[in-house]
Amino acid sequence: MKIQLEDLTKSFPGRGRNSSRVTAVKDFNFEIPDGELIGLLGPSGCGKSTTLNMICGLEKPTSGKIFFGDKDVTALPPEKRGVGMVFQNYALYPHLTVRQNIIFPLQNLKGKDKLSRAEMEKRAMDAAALVQIQELMERKPGELSGGQQQRVAIARALVKLPHVLLLDEPLSNLDARLRLQTREEIRKIQRATKITTVFVTHDQEEAMSISDRIVVMKAGVVQQTGKPQEVYDDPVNLFVAKFLGTPPINVFQGKIKNGKVCIGDAAVLDAPGQKDRDVFVGIRPEGFLLKEDGPLICQLGGVEVMGRDISIVSNHEASLNPNIRSIISAETKVDTSSEIVRFAVKPSKLFVFDG
Ligand code: ADP
Repeated sequence: MKIQLEDLTKSFPGRGRNSSRVTAVKDFNFEIPDGELIGLLGPSGCGKSTTLNMICGLEKPTSGKIFFGDKDVTALPPEKRGVGMVFQNYALYPHLTVRQNIIFPLQNLKGKDKLSRAEMEKRAMDAAALVQIQELMERKPGELSGGQQQRVAIARALVKLPHVLLLDEPLSNLDARLRLQTREEIRKIQRATKITTVFVTHDQEEAMSISDRIVVMKAGVVQQTGKPQEVYDDPVNLFVAKFLGTPPINVFQGKIKNGKVCIGDAAVLDAPGQKDRDVFVGIRPEGFLLKEDGPLICQLGGVEVMGRDISIVSNHEASLNPNIRSIISAETKVDTSSEIVRFAVKPSKLFVFDG
């Protein structure tokens, strides 16, 4: 099911007596192609959950429209939209078994959708098989690990065979190892079922690894959309550049001067035809090359050998990060006795942004 968001906007009344309205989401335009997994990404408070809640019908847009396929669902209540929802806190019924939890959404089906007991059992078993919890069906949620509980929540969201699956920070309550494992499982289930899925997270690595496409939001406004690698390789602004990548991008106060990108006195790259001005220069950690006559001269802070790579920590007065972090191949020789380190820069890993 394709999802189309048209000028979707949501504002809330301010919380204080005289406070102005909060615009949680502003003019969101996006088409989610059928069968794709979209990662909705941004810092806390940028409008991700509000967007998700509008897609599922829990929140009514202030203006704008939502289409599922060709159908305008903007005014439809959640139960008429055919969406499955998974939340951070699992929201399972503690007194019901796993089987009863999964069957629960099927018991309220009415009219032509009503299912026999046997059909419900079959659907529940199919959903349980998808997330591989068949052997846990008679347990209560309290007897399961966080990862298992989240799988039950996913099975419960899938049991009604939704057209759309919405996941709101589904991995946040899991420890690092389970988070990794569960995110791979979610990806597998999504590929197997081909359900159009929106996955909300503030964790860029999670979004990058799981999504066909990501949407980066800031303060209610979409900044950039695209395949994860495309957005990483060609960020439209400093916010997006800083938000994606571990370790984060290195940002310098720089200049365009006489057709060159300059950091301090060092001309690090040609910028033919560009007008002179102050800029921010972003360089990805993997964008540095150790070079004896490299133009960018930094104070060497430390060198960490990490097997495949070497991480060099250095400093430069124009750096806006506390440290410059560069990642280079472990085969490179680094003179650790030197006080300085000289870099050239890979053109594809350097970005220039106006303030
Ligand atoms: P995110 O999911 O990215 O953390 P949210 O969508 O929850 O962000 O919130 C976006 C903004 O809208 C925040 O400023 C938040 O305080 C505000 N907001 C969300 N829900 C409400 C509400 N029911 N009433 C008032 N303000 C809200």
